[in-house]
Amino acid sequence: MMKMSKAQRAQGMTTTHNFSAGPATLPKAVLEQAQAEMLSWNDTGCSVMELSHRGEKFRALLSETEDLLRQLMDIPANYQVLFIPGSARLQFSGLPMNLLVENPRANYLVSGYWSKLAYREATKYGQITQVASSADDHFMSVPEPETWQLDEQAEYFYYTPNETLQGVSCPFVPDVSMPLIADMTSCILSKQIDVREFGVIFAAAQKNLGQAGVTVVIIRDDLIQAPMPQTPAMMDFRRYRDSKSLCCTPPTYALYIMNLTLRYWAGQGGVLQIEALNQQKSQLLYQFIDQSDFYYNRVAPRYRSASNVTFNLPKADLEAVFLSKAQEQGLLGLKGHSAVGGLRASIYNAMPLSGVEHLIGFMQIFQKAYS
Ligand SMILES: *Cc1c(COP(=O)(O)O)cnc(C)c1O
Repeated sequence: MMKMSKAQRAQGMTTTHNFSAGPATLPKAVLEQAQAEMLSWNDTGCSVMELSHRGEKFRALLSETEDLLRQLMDIPANYQVLFIPGSARLQFSGLPMNLLVENPRANYLVSGYWSKLAYREATKYGQITQVASSADDHFMSVPEPETWQLDEQAEYFYYTPNETLQGVSCPFVPDVSMPLIADMTSCILSKQIDVREFGVIFAAAQKNLGQAGVTVVIIRDDLIQAPMPQTPAMMDFRRYRDSKSLCCTPPTYALYIMNLTLRYWAGQGGVLQIEALNQQKSQLLYQFIDQSDFYYNRVAPRYRSASNVTFNLPKADLEAVFLSKAQEQGLLGLKGHSAVGGLRASIYNAMPLSGVEHLIGFMQIFQKAYS
């Protein structure tokens, strides 16, 4: 049982805030709408998950979802938006299989856990250059361009703007003379970007776009070509383009949740509003950590992530106590990834400012009790 304040008991509930890195918290309004529509969606008498993906109503939902994403990100007409079933990691293979056909060479910037895995996977499919790596710095920074060793003949340049485990983000968009591929799983829609600077942007849905099960691939038209011959048919980007992402049964409920999530953000004023809120949340938390002589963050300010705030306690053996006390207060999902350790507050788009304030309030009390 979680402890409740008097006010919470009076309301009959505990305010919980979920800081999980992914799957992650969703806007409450989205969950409430999904709940209200569970038994009959859009006057069909059925749940959306029971309807044919080829029916008119589902097709309309899918095409509206694409339109919403296009509006929110200002995606130009010469980019395709593909909804591909499965994880972001599936695209660690899907991208090289589709792009490294005639010229199997690519550049990878290794700045953390996810870009390292993407790099390793890509080496199965071509001659891959690790442009630079911040492994020696325990991935607490991003290698700056003057240290890069680029393959100038490569087909693309791959990087991960936000490294979710380390809480490190790339403070610049790489300025390279080849198509740029960005894994935006943990930062899509978190701030304004210019899609024209990228060849491919991809993101699994479970951090900022909705629930797990689907990955969005935004790809410039001319980069879609016949993939390597051994590519599974359901990994061939042309099929998703030509069928409007209906070449197989898509994860319909995940797309429905994405639709509700995008509608919600469009109604809140779009990416500019989200970005302002994200800045406010992350500044508040980093300022609190920096002024404290108890908590600390290892990432230099230039590279700090606005989405994933990693922090440590003066003694690692206090972590378990911190996590259990936090949970009693309704603060969930604060454990760092096992590959990195420490603590981590993921404060994606759907985390309200009140969640960060709740967390800081708890951290102050914990610090008093244990310093
Ligand atoms: C979470 C995450 C992934 C992994 O997503 P899956 O859908 O589990 O494959 C990949 N890249 C980044 C940047 C992530 O944050």
